[in-house]
Amino acid sequence: MTSKDGYSWTKAQGLRAGVPSIGVIEPPSNVKSADTVYDVIVVGAGYCGLTAARDASLAGLKVLLLEARDRIGGRSWSSNIEGYPYEMGGTWVFWGQANVWREIARYGMQDELEISYDFSRGINKYLLSSPQGTQTFTHEEEDALMQSSLAKLVNVDGCLGKTVVPFPHSGVMTPEARKYDHMSVADRLAEIKNDLTPNERLCAESFVLLCSGGTLETTSFYEFLHWWALSGYSYEGCIDYLVKYKFRGGQSSFAINFFKEALASGNLTYAFNSPVANIQHGGNGVQITTRSGQTYKSTKMICAIPLNVLNDVAFDPPLAPGRKAAATTGHVNQCVKVHAEISDRDLRSFTGISYPHNGLIYGFGDGETPAGNTHVVAFGGQHNHFHPEENLEHTKAAFQGFAPMNIERLVFHNWSKDEFAKGAWFFPAPGLLSTHLKDMRARESNIVFACSDWALGWRSFIDGAIEEGTRAAINVRADFAGRAKL
Ligand code: FAD
Repeated sequence: MTSKDGYSWTKAQGLRAGVPSIGVIEPPSNVKSADTVYDVIVVGAGYCGLTAARDASLAGLKVLLLEARDRIGGRSWSSNIEGYPYEMGGTWVFWGQANVWREIARYGMQDELEISYDFSRGINKYLLSSPQGTQTFTHEEEDALMQSSLAKLVNVDGCLGKTVVPFPHSGVMTPEARKYDHMSVADRLAEIKNDLTPNERLCAESFVLLCSGGTLETTSFYEFLHWWALSGYSYEGCIDYLVKYKFRGGQSSFAINFFKEALASGNLTYAFNSPVANIQHGGNGVQITTRSGQTYKSTKMICAIPLNVLNDVAFDPPLAPGRKAAATTGHVNQCVKVHAEISDRDLRSFTGISYPHNGLIYGFGDGETPAGNTHVVAFGGQHNHFHPEENLEHTKAAFQGFAPMNIERLVFHNWSKDEFAKGAWFFPAPGLLSTHLKDMRARESNIVFACSDWALGWRSFIDGAIEEGTRAAINVRADFAGRAKL
């Protein structure tokens, strides 16, 4: 099946909107009666909504899953082009992420992971490109440079940030954490400007921008410390947790299992291509109206809509002021993630930074296509932001910013222009978390708000989406059982 989402380009076919994905659901709806009053309506079929819908339907609740797109997965989905998976959004998972690993084990997918890097052949080099030219390092030198730069960045307490974020899965922000949440990474870099070598500075800045998809000024220093803590307070941990292990069959091969299990319960009704426009809620339950005017009713609702698009839905009564303010501020991540299939086999083993002049900042060899070509993935963000489909020559030139390469194919999703995401993974500007994390997590009458964007642990990751979907389903089940909520 082909999704309306995503783009591909080849010389022969030109630019095409829409790419094939096993996450597209056919038929798009199995709604039988418009009069059914569901126990719970889940809005959003990303990992959070899928987990919530599955857990609630397996618990015997009558569930309706409403999704704006033609596919499951939200910000994590893959396209299979000529038998090869390109990850359009969320990609890497790790066994240290407890929620993700629980689900991987549930679906018996422990042996379906592969490692993105292959340093066994080819140029095997780290290319550090700046306006001054390109320097070349071994991968061991790369690791040492990255570790020393990031250690200097995070070492606010003499022990690599461990006292600031001692419990990375806790929802309690210590006074120290709040202090650093009001500071940007640019502020922190100003403090240590005399301690960093020029190369360390390039490495630290580009790695932070890879994580936040924002600018140094709009990146909360606390949230970077939080990622660092989650990753075991080391650069090696960051690689393991953030960019190393991915599904051989692509993310959609994982997500489809959640959907199929929910469907097999016999309690799941669903409707795709159904953007929700209006939500009325109160003592009597919830009434949801889609943009096409279809109305659905339920006793409870799980709202799994991302922060940056929450204000596009009309709530009656309106959203609580704190949540409304958080959604108005939004998160800052405008990541530009682009894949290139290139004929240069030796580049399979390159990793590189091209900064601060280039549109794509961080790139590396991510796989080998069935044609024996190299698959390169590269990331940009708000810094030198661009829309890849608008100027393909600019997009291709951004890849040449790492090394000369012969591009045969481009594949990408424009997350900035995506009306159901308006950005990539959650990354907060200074102050958002310390002011509004509690507000984002609070429930409102019969609605539980759940999303990776306000998870406690791996916030902004697939793991965080599953954490939140699990929490939401537990809360709704507790409502029906008359138990205390979490
Ligand atoms: P979403 O996936 O955004 O799901 C929300 C759903 O709500 C969407 O399907 C959306 O269409 C739907 N929706 C929105 N508005 C409406 C409406 N009005 N009506 C009906 N439905 C609506 N995470 C990792 O763990 N590892 C990675 O390597 C990684 N890399 C990433 C790279 C990119 C480019 C991106 C974009 C994300 C990445 N992430 C990664 C983050 C991860 O993808 C997300 O945190 C996670 O998928 C979010 O899940 P969610 O269910 O909370 O939200």
